[in-house]
Amino acid sequence: MPAEGLRTQVTAATGSGKTLIAVAAAEKLGARHVLVLVPTLDLLTQTAAAWREGGRTGAMVGVCSLRADDSAEGRTEHRQDGPTAASLHTIRVTFRLVPGTGLVLPANAGVLRFGMTAHAAQWTASTLADIRPGGWMCGAHWTFFFVHCDILVTAYACTACTEQTMGHLIIERTERVLDRAADVPVAFGDFDLFGYPIHELTEVLGPSDRKLLLSANVNPQSTHYLSAVRLDACESDRR
Ligand SMILES: [Zn+2]
Repeated sequence: MPAEGLRTQVTAATGSGKTLIAVAAAEKLGARHVLVLVPTLDLLTQTAAAWREGGRTGAMVGVCSLRADDSAEGRTEHRQDGPTAASLHTIRVTFRLVPGTGLVLPANAGVLRFGMTAHAAQWTASTLADIRPGGWMCGAHWTFFFVHCDILVTAYACTACTEQTMGHLIIERTERVLDRAADVPVAFGDFDLFGYPIHELTEVLGPSDRKLLLSANVNPQSTHYLSAVRLDACESDRR
């Protein structure tokens, strides 16, 4: 190791072990402090876990937009192996649907607001997860989707949406286990829409909310849990 230090760059495909290379390099250099920069909150938690798995011990501190109230008991993974900054391992994920407004993203990542341009909506969601733009949807002017903690969010503008800004949101569970609640709450007021069987939701949701959130083919007596909800700001394209 030269006295003036050295630089290097590793370019490798996703999943090929870049994090492990970094952990090994830090170990080899005897690096006491390591600064890791990542572009999304998903990657923050993944990266912290990967460094731990790679053998990195000691404290980890995440500087990010996660707040204390994004952390909670119950949906958390507590680590016993070191004084890890709590926020890295106790993130509670809650999506919140707000009629007329849109979707409040978990982890203080922002709000996907109706009326946003495709660009602005993608920019907001990219704080949380990798965005997959495009995707074909019948009647959509633009659409994109992302997956965060087993929740798939699709945002789109139909050809009738005002100025082709975001008018529609679909929130789905990626795991199709419909006889139990989802791990991730999708909140609507005080209710977790994926947390109760449909027949119980039918009792607590007013008729207008039911019409707003549930597609027409949902059987109100079903003992299953919902697999998808939607929220529209635009009257066209209610499916
Ligand atoms: Zn529309």
